[in-house]
Amino acid sequence: MEAKKHLGQNFLIDKNKIKSIIESIPNIKNSTIVEVGPGRGALTKPLVESAKKVIAIEIDKDMINILKEEINDDNFILIDEDVLKIEWEDLIKEESNIQFVSNLPYYISTKIIFKVALEEKFESLSIMLQKELVDRIFAKNNTKQFGRLTVAIGSLFELENKINVPAGCFNPKPKVDSGFIVLSRKKIDFNIEEYLIFIKCCFATKRKTILNSLKISGFSKTLEVKKYFEDNNIKLNIRAEEIKINDFVNIFKKINL
Ligand code: SAM
Repeated sequence: MEAKKHLGQNFLIDKNKIKSIIESIPNIKNSTIVEVGPGRGALTKPLVESAKKVIAIEIDKDMINILKEEINDDNFILIDEDVLKIEWEDLIKEESNIQFVSNLPYYISTKIIFKVALEEKFESLSIMLQKELVDRIFAKNNTKQFGRLTVAIGSLFELENKINVPAGCFNPKPKVDSGFIVLSRKKIDFNIEEYLIFIKCCFATKRKTILNSLKISGFSKTLEVKKYFEDNNIKLNIRAEEIKINDFVNIFKKINL
C-alpha cells in the first residue's frame, strides 16, 4: 500500500530509533498515552506493550483496518477520526497521568501542538517534527526563527529530551531530517487560552512594533502593555522578536493583575 502524501505519511522504520523514542517517554508504565496518527503502528505496538493504556486517533481508514487486525489488547482504544475534530474533554475525562505522543503529520503539526498545549491534562508532549520546526521551537530571541511557536512552547513546557532522527529512518524518506522532542508541562498560574491569544496578537504583524501589532489585532489590553513598558523602561518601539520568553509571561501576568 502506497503512503498517502497528503496525510503526511512518513512511517518510522528504524528499530533502534523506535526503541530510544519509547524509552524517552515520561512515566510510560503508569500512563495513558494519547497517540495521534498511529499509521501502521510503529510506535503504537511498543506503546501498547509498555503503557497502562493507549488511545490512538487515526484519520486514514486503511491504517485503521491494519491496526484493528494487528493490535488486540483490552488497553488499546482506536478512534477513527480527524484529530482536529476531537474534543479532548470527551476523550480523556476519565483518564489520569496522560502523555501525548505523535510522529506528527507535518501538514498540521503546528495546529496539533497548539491544540494539545491548551489541554492542561496532558502532562507531557513527545513529538516528532521536521528539523525546521524543532529549530523554531528552540530559537533564541532576535533571530528569524523566533516567533509565536517558540514563545508558546517555551512558556508552557520544559525540554526533557531531544533525539535526532535522520530522514533515512522513515519510509518514504522525507526530504529533511527530523527531531523527536520530549516536553514536560511547567506548573503555571495563568490562563493558557488567554495567554496564547496574547502571544498571537504580539506576533500578528512581523517587523512591526509589539504595540502596533497588539493594536491592529484589537487586543483589549494594549494600553496596559504600553504602561508596563513605560514603568519598566522598555522602549515603546520594541518588536516581539526582541522580547525574551520569560518577559512575555511577566507582561501577561502584570496586565492581568
Ligand atoms: N505513527 C506512524 C509512524 O511513526 O510510523 C505514522 C506517522 S505519519 C508521520 C502521520 C500519521 O498521521 C499517518 O498515519 C496519517 O494517516 C495520520 N494523520 C494525518 N492527518 C491526520 C488527522 N488529521 N487526524 C489523525 N491522524 C492523521
